[in-house]
Amino acid sequence: MDHRGIAVVGSLNHDVRLSVHRLPHSGETITSDALHRSPGGKGANQAAASARLGRAVAMIGAVGDDDAGRDITHRLAREGVGTTGIDVVDDSTGMAVVLWERPESTIIIAPGANAWVTGDRVQAHAEEIRQAGAVLCQLETPLSALGAVADLAAGITLLNPAPSAGVPLDLLRRFDVVVPNRFELAALAGAREAPRSVAEVRAMAESLGHPAVVVTLGADGCLVVQRNQSAAHKSSAAVHVRSVDVRAVDTTGAGDSFCAGLADALLDGVDLADAARWATQVAAATTTRDGALDSLPARAELPSPTHIRSRT
Ligand code: AMP
Repeated sequence: MDHRGIAVVGSLNHDVRLSVHRLPHSGETITSDALHRSPGGKGANQAAASARLGRAVAMIGAVGDDDAGRDITHRLAREGVGTTGIDVVDDSTGMAVVLWERPESTIIIAPGANAWVTGDRVQAHAEEIRQAGAVLCQLETPLSALGAVADLAAGITLLNPAPSAGVPLDLLRRFDVVVPNRFELAALAGAREAPRSVAEVRAMAESLGHPAVVVTLGADGCLVVQRNQSAAHKSSAAVHVRSVDVRAVDTTGAGDSFCAGLADALLDGVDLADAARWATQVAAATTTRDGALDSLPARAELPSPTHIRSRT
């Protein structure tokens, strides 16, 4: 790991995706048309996405001593992700059961080993976090892990507050960049409903009092909301980055690859709006293929970014 590398602190799951025509009612049994198993979890996806963009990556997380845990660890290693930060604990590897009612997914997660990724466990991998140029976190592992990351990190810290959950605002503000979708934004803001218009998204993002929020808006791209920290007066600026026009077949993993793209570009020293433009390219490419880990684009498949300086 070097200072241009990325550490990901987060979940590793075994995903079981069942395609269904409709969701079952309470007490009902239905039959799925297709069963698909794959390695997943937001942490694993973001780690693999970062590696495919050419970054050195260290994954910090936990799996059980079972086939699912070995499978996902080997898969990440094959992707070039450093796996020495993945602890094997006395629990089952996390599982996500995805009811896929095209194009929407309804998901139930059994955290299993992911629940063991506490602040103490993160502290045990302090060196990887200290050395990283950027650290990516999500909410499929305990909140105490976030505090430990904020204590240890010397580089840029990014929090993707997914899946939707409240996060204490003082903890949120310890991260340099927060990357929610509009539902996650509502959860952070304590709002009952997700914002609809871009103006509502902006107002809700501003209400967090955080200096840098990038709200992903699906096919509408993303909104970059930054607080101007000038001493004289506090104001904010918002930039709406439109999405790339692609034929989207499966948006699974788009949010994860967006986060990886953002971290990748910020490590090149570009400003947040330009980083969001690059992240939008990476995420759009992810939507053109089925699956999560399998759909992540390699750098060579993406248009040449204007901001990228030569990598040394
Ligand atoms: P989401 O998590 O759905 O907000 O999506 C994350 C990012 O993926 C968005 O900010 C877009 O950049 C990209 N994205 C999602 N859906 C599409 C789509 N249908 N077409 C192009 N880009 C998309």
